[in-house]
Amino acid sequence: MTRPSQKTIIIAGGGAIGATCAVVLARKGHAVTLIDPSPLGHNTSGMAAGMLAPAFEAVMDGSSLAIFEFYLESMKGWASLLAELGLAQRDAPPSGAVWLGEDAPAMAARFDALGADYRLITAKAAQALAPGLCLPRSDALLAPQDGRLDPLATLAGLQSAGERLGVVFHQGRLVRYDAGRAVLADGQVMAADYLLVAAGLPRALASLAPELSHLSPIKGQLVHFDGLGPSTGPTLRTSRGYATPTGRGLALGATMEAGLDDTELDAEVAKRLTALGRDLFPALTAVSPMAKAGVRAASPDGLPLVGPSQAPGVILACGMRRNGWLLAPLVAAQVAAYVQSEDPSSWAAVLNPQRFDTAQG
Ligand SMILES: Cc1cc2nc3c(=O)[nH]c(=O)nc-3n(C[C@H](O)[C@H](O)[C@H](O)COP(=O)(O)OP(=O)(O)OC[C@H]3O[C@@H](n4cnc5c(N)ncnc54)[C@H](O)[C@@H]3O)c2cc1C
Repeated sequence: MTRPSQKTIIIAGGGAIGATCAVVLARKGHAVTLIDPSPLGHNTSGMAAGMLAPAFEAVMDGSSLAIFEFYLESMKGWASLLAELGLAQRDAPPSGAVWLGEDAPAMAARFDALGADYRLITAKAAQALAPGLCLPRSDALLAPQDGRLDPLATLAGLQSAGERLGVVFHQGRLVRYDAGRAVLADGQVMAADYLLVAAGLPRALASLAPELSHLSPIKGQLVHFDGLGPSTGPTLRTSRGYATPTGRGLALGATMEAGLDDTELDAEVAKRLTALGRDLFPALTAVSPMAKAGVRAASPDGLPLVGPSQAPGVILACGMRRNGWLLAPLVAAQVAAYVQSEDPSSWAAVLNPQRFDTAQG
């Protein structure tokens, strides 16, 4: 029997966002069904690097202090969510991130401008943080607030936690939602108080919620040295890209190819990222990594669409761009506030999915 305050929610999409929302909503006592046509991890969330990088993301994007605080708040959300669910992972978060390059002092000035924590460290100290790293040519900058998680392990952990909390995981594709009824591609109909669209770049669902038409793709490619390179320690950032331990081997990335929504692999990109990996970790010289590509979804201002759609009963949690993993706890808390008719956080206006339509109208 459902309690009056208990809502029935269908979530379309089982990536970082859908899976985190499922667990957070189920912990609040709601009846959650998550539908996704893809096996666990066969999505952008599963191939991503898993960095949780409030400081470097804000600094590199030239973000405002408010956005930096938004990122930091979500980072704190991960620490408590992983601990509460018993999913704490070795060395994460925060495991720190290190900028390698002769321009570390200039990078420090950018951190100062944002008020982000950092320490300038010697080349030897940087080398000691990352087993196998060749000695950097100059001093480095350590950002202690940044961290990372293992995307596939976290997706699996979220699914297990969800199952324990009663979330129903259903393999299927949402095609329509009308008057509290979700229709799947195989014709199955499910009733729900709310539909949460957490389907990444759900172009096929654009007729369901008009706000989704504002999303555009950004392709990203990385290479992954399966089982090789450091499995602990900080993310290393350079002007040529980043190298991050994933628990399953070192990942190097990533391209930002605006407007592209294919997952074709570009041999030149793989060659460039492989060279970066081998320059940083000479022990990788004899091995070839695996290349991967995924598609991020981005709104015109680069911030997600989180909140009620104009379409009745539909809540959106899409358009995470480069930071879906980082933002998942904050997005899930925001979604829970809407489902429970509580005051959403102070981020509501910034994330409002209807903000682009309002600007035009
Ligand atoms: C190369 C690369 C590196 C990245 N590195 C990082 C990083 O280090 N840190 C970070 O925070 N972010 C990173 N990102 C970004 C991050 O991966 C995304 O922001 C995040 O994965 C978005 O998660 P999501 O749950 O919204 O979407 P997705 O992971 O795309 O999941 C969407 C799910 O919805 C399902 N779906 C689609 N249509 C339907 C439908 N009609 N019905 C039901 N289900 C449907 C799909 O099958 C899919 O499983 C990276 C991205 C790329 C490409």
